[in-house]
Amino acid sequence: MPVCPSCQAEYEASMTRCKECDTALVDKLETNVVSEDTTDVYACYEPQLAVRLTEILNEEGVEVLVRDRSSNLFPTNLGKTAQRVIAVATHDVGRARAAIESAIADGVVPADGEMIER
Ligand SMILES: [Zn+2]
Repeated sequence: MPVCPSCQAEYEASMTRCKECDTALVDKLETNVVSEDTTDVYACYEPQLAVRLTEILNEEGVEVLVRDRSSNLFPTNLGKTAQRVIAVATHDVGRARAAIESAIADGVVPADGEMIER
């Protein structure tokens, strides 16, 4: 299944570019897919915000998995209104939260999402 290496959205086989961020799709993600236990840390509705936060977290050495939370509820409504959930390996949660909070505090990204507390 084609997948976007940037925002990790999955597409049908006929798709070649991500409709969210216009990145060329790949057949499967490289090894930076989080394979161990993950924890949701942040939710947002803006695809570009999810992409930017992924970049910021990657710079911190935190691997990120972006899930599309609403796709199960609204399978015909993928796109701008879909809620993106940023998940990281459970042992990276503290670092991920700190990086997101400081990025928002510094105005690097807009505070358009919500931190998911457990
Ligand atoms: Zn994408």
